[in-house]
Amino acid sequence: MGEPLIAGNWKMFKTVGEAVDFVRELAYRVSGLHGVEMVVCPPFTALAAVSGLLRDLGAGIAVGAQNMYWENEGAYTGEVAPGMLKEIGCRYVILGHSERRQYFGETDVMVNKKVHAALAHDLMPIVCVGERLEERESGTTEAVVRKQVEGSLAGLSAVQAAKLVVAYEPVWAIGTGRTASASDAQQVNEFIRGLLRSLFGEVAAQAVRIQYGGSVKPGNAAELMAQPDIDGALVGGASLEVDSFTDIIKNAV
Ligand code: PGA
Repeated sequence: MGEPLIAGNWKMFKTVGEAVDFVRELAYRVSGLHGVEMVVCPPFTALAAVSGLLRDLGAGIAVGAQNMYWENEGAYTGEVAPGMLKEIGCRYVILGHSERRQYFGETDVMVNKKVHAALAHDLMPIVCVGERLEERESGTTEAVVRKQVEGSLAGLSAVQAAKLVVAYEPVWAIGTGRTASASDAQQVNEFIRGLLRSLFGEVAAQAVRIQYGGSVKPGNAAELMAQPDIDGALVGGASLEVDSFTDIIKNAV
């Protein structure tokens, strides 16, 4: 596979001022670093400022949003459209994060509409899937992940699918400090690769970057990234501090 893709999901953290200070420092610390693709995903309010600053700095760090709606425009109070994200320089958008599914009722059908809309606007979706603790314990991890992958990616062509990033994020590992072991994560990522192969063919399956997310830290990043089907990380908590996020990026190379 190509370069690992390390994305920081800041969730509902950081003011515009904090976000700008963070990326200025991050750009300085990773300048000259090769062999890794970097993305930060600030809250909506900070996207434009962060994107503009990173462009001006020529930092080679891409920007992603954490969510969006699927319509181009309209009377949808509180929502943000794909074209609006594109306009301010977003390259990625996280879709179907487990917190969106759990707290805001997002279903695979909704995620699927968002994936189609993102691709139509040349935004690269980071599609999140993953089982809950009780599902892992009852042995249904693969069935759950299969349903999420098939539902979220329904109706895509192989050419479209090849542009995707899929993030395997076991819900029990998110924000808990409890990381999946590298071999458990590899096993599910390999399963996802196989699903993609059966849905879209070998070329697309190899082109999709499959990340792992859930308590990724500087200390476990290298071992996770060394797995053959783990092509990057979606990092929550540890992406909020410049020290830990920089160390994860460096350990991923
Ligand atoms: P975490 O979050 O790294 O804090 O576990 C990961 C995520 O939710 O994407």
